[in-house]
Amino acid sequence: MKKSIVKFASVEFDKIDPSVTLPAKFDRLLKSYNLRNLVDGKIVALKMHLGRELGYTTIHPLFVKILIKNIKEAGGEVFITDLLLPHLKDFGGITARDRYSEEMLGAPIYPVAGVYDKYYYSKKVNFKSLKEIQVAGHIHDAEVMIDFSHFKGHGVSSYGGAIKNIAMGCVTSKTRQSIHALHSGGSGIVWDGNLCDHCNKCIEECRYKANSFDDENKYTVSVHDCTYCQHCIEICPNNALSLESKNYLDFQEGLAIATEEVLKTFLFEKVFYINVLMNITLMCDCWGMSTPSLVPDIGILSSYDIVAIEKASLDMIKSDTVLPNSLPMGKILVKGNHLFEKVWGKDPYKQIEAVAKKGLGNIEYEIEEIV
Ligand code: SF4
Ligand code: SF4
Repeated sequence: MKKSIVKFASVEFDKIDPSVTLPAKFDRLLKSYNLRNLVDGKIVALKMHLGRELGYTTIHPLFVKILIKNIKEAGGEVFITDLLLPHLKDFGGITARDRYSEEMLGAPIYPVAGVYDKYYYSKKVNFKSLKEIQVAGHIHDAEVMIDFSHFKGHGVSSYGGAIKNIAMGCVTSKTRQSIHALHSGGSGIVWDGNLCDHCNKCIEECRYKANSFDDENKYTVSVHDCTYCQHCIEICPNNALSLESKNYLDFQEGLAIATEEVLKTFLFEKVFYINVLMNITLMCDCWGMSTPSLVPDIGILSSYDIVAIEKASLDMIKSDTVLPNSLPMGKILVKGNHLFEKVWGKDPYKQIEAVAKKGLGNIEYEIEEIV
């Protein structure tokens, strides 16, 4: 099979000159495509994750502005879109609109499924408890989608990039919850009640207060609070805890199904992907916080193939270990083939494989570097 093209603008520079830095290269990367073919005379949804609360490592507005300028010059009518739910009133009143303003970027910002999250198109699916995907109305109505994603870690799916920006970002809250429900207990920590004598050591020693025994005396972990430090696993005297849950694979399949349903609403050549490999943090931007990068900045990738760009993005993260202060104190790396697997105990390539199996893209790619 012919390899898919992934274009790459690197953060590397060979002289002290703005023209060799990433924003200039990003502009050249966009101009290396015939964007007029993609957007001329079309309504273009620019799907981003605009972040929450105290997060400051979402895509820098300068790159958004460069992209919008290129879309407009190529004849597209563009709007930015993300969840922007009314209840996402954040820390001290800080919201996504404090990071990205319509005036500054030159494009309106619309809540993806309407102000009240009720504007959607229902698609029937059938995977375990997942029976419906509610595709966000503003995505469904657009003629072109540009999936502009910040590439970073994620506790349940190991990483978040182009796939997650669609699967969790182009649907309603109800669908997001249904996909999350697929990984019930998805912390990845498995408790064996036959081995546990309820000594309570694991509860007492969890410095994040993330674990507890429920009303039925079953061990539970809050995926919101758990840092996956695995201390509870290590100190359990009876080996009643382990990190081996495969539930996360159901979550990946849920992501793939939602991605497929969203992409069905577009022609293949009318969706364009851009992954920003900068500020590659431990957690997703939905956590409303930012932490130091796990690895040095890499650059920006683009492609018409969602599988190829995700695979290339993961492959570009080659480090075996993380930068200082990028993990919560006490969290340790586990065994794994990719850094994200070492961080989260979950194989990040499974997400891509699930999408590739649906015929949505090509795992084989070749890099064209923009200089
Ligand atoms: S440390 Fe192990 S044996 Fe003790 S309560 Fe926790 S899971 Fe059970
Ligand atoms: S992995 Fe760490 S944070 Fe999570 S429940 Fe166990 S001790 Fe607590």
